[in-house]
Amino acid sequence: MICINNKTKLYSVLKLKCPKCHQGNLFINNAWNYHNTLAMPDKCFVCRQDFKIEPGFYSGALWVTYPIVLIVVFLSLFPLIFIPDYYLMVFLVMLLVVLVTQPFVMRYGRAIWINIFIHYDIGYEQ
Ligand SMILES: [Zn+2]
Repeated sequence: MICINNKTKLYSVLKLKCPKCHQGNLFINNAWNYHNTLAMPDKCFVCRQDFKIEPGFYSGALWVTYPIVLIVVFLSLFPLIFIPDYYLMVFLVMLLVVLVTQPFVMRYGRAIWINIFIHYDIGYEQ
């Protein structure tokens, strides 16, 4: 397993932790809870960092999510280019991959977005 320094933004994004303290969770539910996959607490349970910074703050995360979706689509299409003449199957596999990965992509998009604006505070080091 890859060991990531818990003071880096990469740690906060990959573990979906608060960008300020790297301890509190960014999301309330797990990703498979499709109805509430993006439910976030108002504030971090550890450092009280506000996660609802301003109305519409996470609409900017779409700019982060879009390239991630493109990478997922291209990675899912790559093995299928070796199977010509099955365009419907290629489309269905790509659609399935996008639907299954969508909650994770949206969560990581939000985690990257909030990490752009909020930085690690060494005062919360364990
Ligand atoms: Zn925190």
